[in-house]
Amino acid sequence: MTETKPPLDIYLCAPRGFCAGVDRAIQIVELALATYGAPVYVRHEIVHNKFVVESLKAKGAVFVEELDEVPATKQPVIFSAHGVPKSVPENARELNFFYLDATCPLVSKVHKEAMLHDKRGHEIILIGHEGHPEVIGTMGQLEEGVVKLIETVEDVAAFEPRDPNNLAWITQTTLSVDDTADIIAALKDRFPAITGPNKNDICYATTNRQEAVKIVAPKADVMIVVGAPNSSNSKRLREVGERAGCRQSLLLQRASEIDWDSLGAISSVAITAGASAPEVLVEEVIEAFRTRYDVTLDVVVTAKEDIIFNIPRELREAAIAAGVLEEGPKAVAVN
Ligand code: SF4
Repeated sequence: MTETKPPLDIYLCAPRGFCAGVDRAIQIVELALATYGAPVYVRHEIVHNKFVVESLKAKGAVFVEELDEVPATKQPVIFSAHGVPKSVPENARELNFFYLDATCPLVSKVHKEAMLHDKRGHEIILIGHEGHPEVIGTMGQLEEGVVKLIETVEDVAAFEPRDPNNLAWITQTTLSVDDTADIIAALKDRFPAITGPNKNDICYATTNRQEAVKIVAPKADVMIVVGAPNSSNSKRLREVGERAGCRQSLLLQRASEIDWDSLGAISSVAITAGASAPEVLVEEVIEAFRTRYDVTLDVVVTAKEDIIFNIPRELREAAIAAGVLEEGPKAVAVN
């Protein structure tokens, strides 16, 4: 006699998973490997996902935390999607490294904002999380101490500006949209003359994934975010799921991390993935549910994404010359 599986509705968020910046960063490493051969050196995890990092290692990428771990080489050294302080490319030039920058163009845009505010003489506040590589990279676009970090509404209350009428703010790209709105409101309330972007610097991918979770999580008994514990946007998605009223909101790297006993009696699950989590891991989680439940899958589309970023021109040209990339229409950055 075959065992009857209990029914389970899975609500699959769309969009989810890879964003244009992550896709571009991975393409840069893969294309560099195909063009220049192994090894290529990558400073920091190219994107915050162990599965992605391990797959690239298997193809010949060597991951380091700092440039002093790279031997003297003519092979490319690649900077991660999170961006780097200015001192890193400077150091790479001193060491005669050939480097490729996989910084997401939306992070580079925030770097440019910081430099422009500095040029205009504003004191700069960065809303972000201390220690995150993107925050280190953005603060490192200017001399140490020029960019002040604010993490909470309480930090706004405690902040002592040089001149309250000459302030500017920028943000990390992967923050909670709602928490950031509160911090910006507190800044504007305390410093009405403060200047900044129209809304915030949180990127389209972070915003869209959080919006999807807000819509889907209240329908489900459990919210599962596929993503890494050091991925800022994935951690925010788990929090958004919790705040949206989901009884259990979990951040998991792989299906093997699901604690089936603690899920309890459930009839619905919502699933999304952070911007650095590959789709194959989402499929793995869905398959794990299929082995235990009679699954009805409902893809909930809350936004359409068609953003693509160009790879660096010098890599593109070298890849075409090496015959590993065909000449064709260029991908166009539309954001
Ligand atoms: Fe770029 Fe946003 Fe993706 Fe980060 S999450 S790599 S800022 S698109």
